Amino acid sequence: ITILGIESSCDDTSAAVLRNNVLLSNVIASQAVHVKYGGVIPELASRAHQQNIIPVVDTALKEAGVAADRIDAIAFTRGPGLVGSLLVGVSFTKGLSIARNIPMVEVNHLQGHILSHFIDLRDRTLPHPDFPFLCLLVSGGHTQIVRVDSPLEMEIIGTTIDDAAGEAFDKCAKVMGLPYPGGPVIDRLAKEGDPKAFRFAHPRVEGYDYSFSGLKTSFLYTLRDAVAADPDFIETHKADLCASLQGTIVEILLDKLIRASKETGIRDIAIAGGVSANSGLRDGIAEAGRRRGWRTFLPEFKFTTDNAAMIAMAGYYRYLRGDFSSLDVSPVARLEEL
Ligand code: ATP
Ligand code: FE
Repeated sequence: ITILGIESSCDDTSAAVLRNNVLLSNVIASQAVHVKYGGVIPELASRAHQQNIIPVVDTALKEAGVAADRIDAIAFTRGPGLVGSLLVGVSFTKGLSIARNIPMVEVNHLQGHILSHFIDLRDRTLPHPDFPFLCLLVSGGHTQIVRVDSPLEMEIIGTTIDDAAGEAFDKCAKVMGLPYPGGPVIDRLAKEGDPKAFRFAHPRVEGYDYSFSGLKTSFLYTLRDAVAADPDFIETHKADLCASLQGTIVEILLDKLIRASKETGIRDIAIAGGVSANSGLRDGIAEAGRRRGWRTFLPEFKFTTDNAAMIAMAGYYRYLRGDFSSLDVSPVARLEEL
């Protein structure tokens, strides 16, 4: 089975070709236009997707060595995401589906992030978790603990009640005057700093839920007071601030995940989403895993941020079940269920 995947939920236009679960190509066009605004501008994202989508799909098919008429299905991101961005991928998929008579399969972007753990490469098989497993999904818009019972049955058992972990990274980076997106920049600067230099607020939230707005406020107030006393404070303490912030976010994330593993008895633990690229989180999960006898699954870096390979992978499982979409499908900004 050969699946063409299309992803356009935010600011990356991506197309990938998957044969069963083996990745043949994965092309990503990132949009530089948003950097100067310090965040994604939806209107500009939508326009850039329109410019990118045809060349990106074309390149993905060429790199895979697959002709368009050999595709068994087109898997596309239906949501969640920016509607104007999603619309470009959905419309393109419909057009190609009609022109070449290829069935369409809609994919939940978050299921895509999670199912990226089942992709293999042409020259290498990758480690895959066994069911059931817990996946900590940490991205720009979501922070969830998901219990995954099969490729198509998953349940969110914990979620953030305010900001996502990626948002906490990005907003605190902005306060320090770092460029967007701040997560990778903080990760890099944190390597030179002391994670114990500063202490920021930890949330008190019930169950497996998360909260990051208190941390953000506590970070902001720490900086405001310190800068009032010393205008150069941020510049001279940048690495320590980054290390302490990252350390706090990782502690918060691990705390609930450890609890969920204890209470469910599930010890195959995966992470997914943009923040799963974070070196502090990767080390933290690996370390917790060694101590607790978990099998831990850290995604390849290219599968952490948005990509169409994960969409094709999720689409493959839906294809096997015969879950096809009709031409009147429309994008959705929010999808509460997985
Ligand atoms: P969602 O998947 O929830 O719709 P999204 O697709 O916009 O959101 P992703 O592309 O999965 O999010 O992830 C982007 C986020 O990941 C950004 O907040 C970015 O700062 C963060 N991120 C990327 N790399 C790192 C890193 N090394 N350390 C911390 N955060 C990172
Ligand atoms: Fe994403």
